[in-house]
Amino acid sequence: MQIKEDGDPGHCQPPDSLGQAFRRGLSLRCPLCGGGKLFTGLISMESSCGRCGFRYERGPGYFLGSTYINYGLTTLLTTWTYIIGRFVLEIDQRTMIPGIVAFCVTFPVVFFRYARSLWLSLDCYFDKEGAVEGLAPEGQESVKKTFKDF
Ligand SMILES: [Zn+2]
Repeated sequence: MQIKEDGDPGHCQPPDSLGQAFRRGLSLRCPLCGGGKLFTGLISMESSCGRCGFRYERGPGYFLGSTYINYGLTTLLTTWTYIIGRFVLEIDQRTMIPGIVAFCVTFPVVFFRYARSLWLSLDCYFDKEGAVEGLAPEGQESVKKTFKDF
């Protein structure tokens, strides 16, 4: 297993800021090294990172949590679109409803991969120790040496 390609011990580690967690999540890349792809197709996912070996699915049903992100964002966008369209722009309700319904059906499908990736990346940010457990033992030792918190 190759942990780091450039010899930098800090190269393969959980995101150290929320910004980095979001960048890695939105780029659909491994949350630890930022290099390995999460998806091989539209919805088919790699089981682990091809670069650092990090196991993406940390337990059975792990990605169920990504539905909170997907559902939450869909609801938020739908609600604010309706409020702004109806009360600020004064668009007729019969005009808005079909568009909002179409959005509610298509957005979660389009955002599916990003919701999973964000869920994984944010989980690694907030649970750094748990994230390192997804690495092979030699990888864990390498990453733990870079953290004084462990
Ligand atoms: Zn990786």
